[in-house]
Amino acid sequence: MLQVAQRMGRLGTETAFEVLARAEALARSGHDVINLGIGQPDFKTPPHIVEAATKALRDGHHGYTPAPGIPKLREAVAADIAKYRDVEIDPDLVLVVPGGKVTMFFAIMMFGEPGAEILYPNPGFPIYESVIAFSGAKPVPIPLLEDRDFSFDAEAVLDLITPATRLLIVNSPANPTGGTVSKSELDKLAAGLEAHPHVAVMSDEIYARMTYDGVPHASLTAYESLRDRLILLDGWSKTYAMTGWRLGYSVWPKSLIEGATRMAVNCHSCVNAAAQFAGIAALEGPQDSVDTMVAAFDDRRHAIVDALNGLPGVTCRKPTGAFYAFPNITGTGMDTRTLQNRLLEEAFVATVAGTSFGAYGEGYLRFSYANSKQNILAAIDRIRDLLV
Ligand code: PLP
Repeated sequence: MLQVAQRMGRLGTETAFEVLARAEALARSGHDVINLGIGQPDFKTPPHIVEAATKALRDGHHGYTPAPGIPKLREAVAADIAKYRDVEIDPDLVLVVPGGKVTMFFAIMMFGEPGAEILYPNPGFPIYESVIAFSGAKPVPIPLLEDRDFSFDAEAVLDLITPATRLLIVNSPANPTGGTVSKSELDKLAAGLEAHPHVAVMSDEIYARMTYDGVPHASLTAYESLRDRLILLDGWSKTYAMTGWRLGYSVWPKSLIEGATRMAVNCHSCVNAAAQFAGIAALEGPQDSVDTMVAAFDDRRHAIVDALNGLPGVTCRKPTGAFYAFPNITGTGMDTRTLQNRLLEEAFVATVAGTSFGAYGEGYLRFSYANSKQNILAAIDRIRDLLV
């Protein structure tokens, strides 16, 4: 009998991948499945980025790179942060990693152990809670509620801090709700954190470029008082439609970058060299593809919210970021998992149950609008047929 470590029993998963597998199996057996479950842009990686990677391989860049990343890429990340967040950071604090997830794994494993508490958004990206539990720490949910447009009250977050709190995770714009945290709420949070110098913060800003209605992204990097304890998570996956490239980055405080780099050396040595060259091209090249993609998301955002609000038993607030809508489905009389399963199996529409993102997701369903407007509206028609 093999005996694996007890912590394996505490490691969760990301159900969106399971829904995707079931949707693909249904499609293979001949059903016309509309996938609104998937958390990745339905756009292609822009050609100049693909070309930079193929050129890198042709030029012989096929060996290991420095563990924290190619210096030119780390400099390009720092320049990008200066451009979009108006903050000067030292390129030596940038760690290039294989995807956004790696930053959260490293940050949580760095702080989490039995006796420690880690605050995380709920509903939120499921890997936060999963890895916190895996580390042995206690996951302490920050409830994100519909009546606050899925943002939080900074005072309520600060009230959850105890002497055992090691790390606070913030995600804005957010998965799965499409909510964003306003600059004024971040101001309050940052000010309040000054009384809790033992708490590190990980800010997951992977959807930073996807905000709407002319409201700029509010970043936690803006606060000088957090500079020595803030871990920034971002990457290329969503902004440049590069989910399969596995390329992300983090910015660490001076006191943590060495430990984070050691984790990288132990885990993956370095990121695929050609992908890093692609990353440079993405940051330094034309940004019109990003603007076009975000404009398309914005158009679909209005369309899906209007359509969802026309369904019996469904109400949906307008999300302010990312590419997700998170309607309240309690009026259908079904719990979220039942509705998710019925939509997939009877209407062939893939969505993700709110509870896949934590207990506070009951009563909601995640729709990704990373699909064509035509498909989105066709999916809503099918759902209407099922609900009436
Ligand atoms: N953070 C959030 C909030 C996400 O939604 C995702 C992906 O869905 C990630 C991080 C992970 O991104 P990556 O695919 O680059 O690992």
